[in-house]
Amino acid sequence: MTPKFETRAVHDGQEADPETGAVIPPIHLSSTFKQDGIGKHRGFEYRRTNNPTRQRLEHQVASLEKSQHGIAFASGSAATTSIQLLLQAGDHVICGDDVYGGTYRFFDKVMKNFDVSYSFIDLTDPDKLKTAIQDNTKMIWLETPTNPLLKVSDLGALSTIAKEKSIMTVVDNTFATPYLQAPFDYGADMVVHSATKYLGGHSDLVGGIVLTNSDSLAERLRFIQNSAGAVPSPFDMWLLSRGIKTLALRMERHCSNAEKMVKVLQQDDRINQIYYPFLAGHPNEDVARKQMSRGGGMVSFDLSNRAEAERFLSNLEIFSLAESLGGVESLAEYPPEMTHGSIEPERRHEIGINDGLIRLSCGIEHVDDLIADVQQSLNKL
Ligand SMILES: *Cc1c(COP(=O)(O)O)cnc(C)c1O
Repeated sequence: MTPKFETRAVHDGQEADPETGAVIPPIHLSSTFKQDGIGKHRGFEYRRTNNPTRQRLEHQVASLEKSQHGIAFASGSAATTSIQLLLQAGDHVICGDDVYGGTYRFFDKVMKNFDVSYSFIDLTDPDKLKTAIQDNTKMIWLETPTNPLLKVSDLGALSTIAKEKSIMTVVDNTFATPYLQAPFDYGADMVVHSATKYLGGHSDLVGGIVLTNSDSLAERLRFIQNSAGAVPSPFDMWLLSRGIKTLALRMERHCSNAEKMVKVLQQDDRINQIYYPFLAGHPNEDVARKQMSRGGGMVSFDLSNRAEAERFLSNLEIFSLAESLGGVESLAEYPPEMTHGSIEPERRHEIGINDGLIRLSCGIEHVDDLIADVQQSLNKL
């Protein structure tokens, strides 16, 4: 019997050190590895190419995502970059219209210079994908739930359409984590994470990882990883492995806190709209409940305008005003000028990011304190 998620999170890739018996494997900082003869090594030659601490982490995350291969990078963005380097000039990519701002920026402002074209469309409607596919479409890139509007796309429906045309489906699973959503069960070809967020979970490292079941994609990604060099430090990978051991516990609390927060916000008439995947009335609630086990720790909502948003954020006491998400501590931010500031205002409005939008990353503190904090700040509007 395959051990369950919580058990794999603690043990897979994290076996005791064979040399000393240390229950917690050591961090290997060495940049180079002694060879037994010319070209005869014990699996490691040079730290960019591979190192024991990174390899353990890669096994651990691959196990949680139920995949064969994990390839870790210096950041989620480096993982994204490396996946784009699988493409060639002339290729076309279809991307969700509400993806992480930095992903949009990289596709639209950098990759375009290399003659790769991108269509940004609303992937919550699979029919829109069908009409956007071109002869040169090679990849579909999506996040679900999305950032910051927590829109949900049907992973099974989208990857089925893609497969018929031999198009690769890449899912950024940063928001849901493998604990809540398993994209490979729905036909994804690659999963990417910003490990900086929930996987790490303590806001003290930056990292990224790509997972796949394809031997040929993994081989190509490792070649790109070694050639382009955006590799993570062993220290960050060690911290990441440590953080992941509590992923299941943390996600349960993040979800419970977010669900209770949503209930309170629903009863507050100062809030215009709430965005949460499992909220009754969410346009894709059924799909969310089908492919996610819980709704996640992120909650967004609309105040009336920028001035209200600013007042709300400046009066919070427990929530910190900060970018990023997924740490044990609660964060609040203003997407229009922070995480999504790199998106032009017209485009922002088009995709529904309003001027009063607030995004909360509910941490694992006591929920009564989090709710009291939000309420005292709303009372000062
Ligand atoms: C943060 C984030 C990224 C980028 O990851 P970094 O580790 O910051 O480079 C990509 N996708 C999503 C959904 C993110 O939240």
